[in-house]
Amino acid sequence: MEINQIGEFGLIELIKKEVFSKDKQVIVNIGDDAAVIKSSPDRLLVFTTDTLVEKVHFDFRYFTFEEVGWKAMAANLSDIAAMGGIPKYALVTIGLPKSVKSGDVLRLYRGMHRIASRYDCKIVGGDTTRVPKDLFVTIALLGEVEKERLVKRSGAKKGDLICVTGDLGESLAGLEYLKKYGRSKLPLVQKHLKPYPRIHEAQTLIRSLKINSMIDISDGLSSELFHLAEESHLGAVIYEEKLPISPQCVKIASLLNLSALSLALSSGEEYELLFTIGKKQLSKLVRIKRRVKAFVIGEIVDPGKGIKIVQRSGKAASLKRTGFVHF
Ligand code: ADP
Ligand code: MG
Repeated sequence: MEINQIGEFGLIELIKKEVFSKDKQVIVNIGDDAAVIKSSPDRLLVFTTDTLVEKVHFDFRYFTFEEVGWKAMAANLSDIAAMGGIPKYALVTIGLPKSVKSGDVLRLYRGMHRIASRYDCKIVGGDTTRVPKDLFVTIALLGEVEKERLVKRSGAKKGDLICVTGDLGESLAGLEYLKKYGRSKLPLVQKHLKPYPRIHEAQTLIRSLKINSMIDISDGLSSELFHLAEESHLGAVIYEEKLPISPQCVKIASLLNLSALSLALSSGEEYELLFTIGKKQLSKLVRIKRRVKAFVIGEIVDPGKGIKIVQRSGKAASLKRTGFVHF
């Protein structure tokens, strides 16, 4: 069977069947933002990997080498954030075409190092290989999480409020802008080129209130909402009027003749966190609003109710699993 018939997640399910282990040390296996391994009675390691491939995830027509490095590291840091973890050590594998200049490779590392060092995360090794054409960067990141701070995709409870840490639609709006008009200092273009992982925000949230489930938005709000609801065996409803969409995103969407709503639902690489909390936690969420941006966008419901969006008109519609699709 060709992989575009089963899609990325169908393929991952097949891989999971082939290699799934019941090792007691594996606390979180394939299926979350990162794996969690119990390395000693009081220590949990968080382990993730993510790749950026030229022409698939970025294009040197509007990315600098430094930005590619930054973004590759940010994607990995974001997966650690989504588990409630603290990033520690990274291994970096680079696939380079012969024509690439050493100065550019060092710029790539400068980008990785700049964002990693904000969180005291160190690059401690990797691998270097030649590729026939398009460059890639793969990072494997190891972090730590305290047992009581670990948050999974699967912990959502019926009645939970669904929240996000920031404006939606920005990264895709930024990409579309880049494709049409080239580089710009617009914040949403910068968010596409140099996203900030929500490590500190996740830590503040977890220390201040009980977070039941969490996932980072790397493939788009709607796709991540499906993951979170499915892993928790529940349904979800979100409200169009509650989605945080910045005035600038609305403006750029209209300039580009795009719908701001579909940007908000399908923009990948936002690296905001999508999380759920019990209703009683709301007052605590409001109290930390100065330190962490958080917007309530919906609630977790019975699984039979599916995954819905209530439009401004008040009509509920089934949400489509849009977002970034690899195959
Ligand atoms: P994320 O978007 O958070 O990086 P993915 O959607 O890439 O997560 O992956 C979903 C889950 O499937 C993760 O637990 C990841 O580790 C696992 N996974 C993805 N690709 C593979 C693969 N080729 N082999 C084994 N596990 C994989
Ligand atoms: Mg993720």
